[in-house]
This record gives sequence, C-alpha cells and structure tokens, in this order.
Amino acid sequence: MNIREITTKNAITKTGIGGYDYCLNPYVGCQHGCKYCYASFMKRFTGHREPWGDFVDIKINAPDSLRRQLRRIREGTVIVGTVTDPYQPLEKKYRITRDCLKAFAGSLLTVSILTRSGLVARDIDVFKELPDVEVGFSIATNREDIKKVFEPFSPSVRSRLDALKTIHDAGIRTYAFIGPMLPMDPGALAGSLAGITDEVLIDRLNYPGKVAGLVRERGLAEHMTLDHFRSTARELSQILAESGIPVTILFD
Ligand code: SF4
Repeated sequence: MNIREITTKNAITKTGIGGYDYCLNPYVGCQHGCKYCYASFMKRFTGHREPWGDFVDIKINAPDSLRRQLRRIREGTVIVGTVTDPYQPLEKKYRITRDCLKAFAGSLLTVSILTRSGLVARDIDVFKELPDVEVGFSIATNREDIKKVFEPFSPSVRSRLDALKTIHDAGIRTYAFIGPMLPMDPGALAGSLAGITDEVLIDRLNYPGKVAGLVRERGLAEHMTLDHFRSTARELSQILAESGIPVTILFD
C-alpha cells in the first residue's frame, strides 16, 4: 500500500450529486478496494500507477483548508465520502475526517456522512456538536461471504449494523444505502435494519463491467440482471415499509 501525505487547496468542492451542494473527501484512494468501486476513475487524476485500492493520499491540511473555506461558505449541504471512505483504517491514526467534521460545528451546513466502517461511531461526540448531521452506512448484502468477494478489505456487515445501532441509539439520524445490491437474503437484511435506521436508499449495480469476470467466475450472473435488481428492491421496500422505514429506490 502506497500511502503519502498531500495538501489540498479546497477541502470541499461543488458537487453535481443530487440533493447536495458540496462534497468532502479527506483522502484520495481507498483502502477498502471494493471490486465494483465506481470511484476508481479518480486514479486518472492522481498520477498513481498502482491498482485502485493500493494507494491512499492523505489530505493532511484538509481541516485547515475547510476552516478557511467556511469563513465564506455559510450554508448548504455537504456529503462526506463520495470517492473515498472517510473512515477507512488510516482515519484511525490520522483523524482527518474527524477534524474536518469538527470544523462544521460553528457553521449552518447540513452534513451527510457515508461509510462502510464502524470507526465512524468514534465520532459521536463530534456529531452531537453539529447543527444538522446524518450518518449513512453502505450495506450491499447481509451475507459476509458475498461481502468478502466484492469488498475484500471492508469491515464486516455485522460491525456496520452494530455501529449503525450505536449511532442511532445516540440520537443521531441514520440511513442505510443498499447499493449496489449484491446477492442477499432481502428479508434478513431488511429485518436487521429495523429500529436502527431512519431511511433506506436502494440502488442497483451501475457499472457491471467492473465485476463481470468475478460474477462469471462465481456463477452469480442471475443475481446481476435488471429484473433481479427490481424484484429484490421491491421485496426490500415492502419489508422495510412494514417497519415504517421510508425507502427510496434510485433506479427504474
Ligand atoms: S469504500 Fe467506497 S470508495 Fe472505498 S473502495 Fe469501496 S466503494 Fe470505493
């Protein structure tokens, strides 16, 4: 793993992602190295030659840069973690995400965090200081064996559910992002989210080409058709609706 420290001019940048004005990515690259990762296109802009998942650049001055930006950006919505996981293992030592989040405390910005790591629960004290914050977990399947195939270096599903509960119990708004839907037991996954999440978003696999070889090799093709994504999404939303959890399906 090639790890280096870099500096950034602007910690938050404008984003075209629906519902958000800005995005914040405290790292470039990601230790989780998910096989389906759409963010791997970022590699083109980094000068790195290693495969996606084998390098991380740490934006060491991101908290200072953000504090400076927040002198003129007074309101809006920010999503944290669009092309990196803000709570990947390096965050334990470097605390860049934590220090950035602390900078939002005196602002009026709405902050939404998306991660696959229970390390996020470390920062509940910071979330409690923010004017408006929500914490989301990407959970693509309930099956640990499938997780290991497509997300070999990400934390276990169990640890994410435990952290989601801890954060929800602390009074912080939570959401689950079930995407890209991987082979799963929809009933078991939806059941495990009851009572610990305020909202669920569901998406299909958007870049099938990235995992085509893996899907073929594992004999999982039938789980990756549009029809299958649609029926799984329907099943998930029916069960979640019974628990009173609002669901948004992000594809047709
Ligand atoms: S955690 Fe997110 S950014 Fe990191 S490799 Fe996985 S999908 Fe990509």
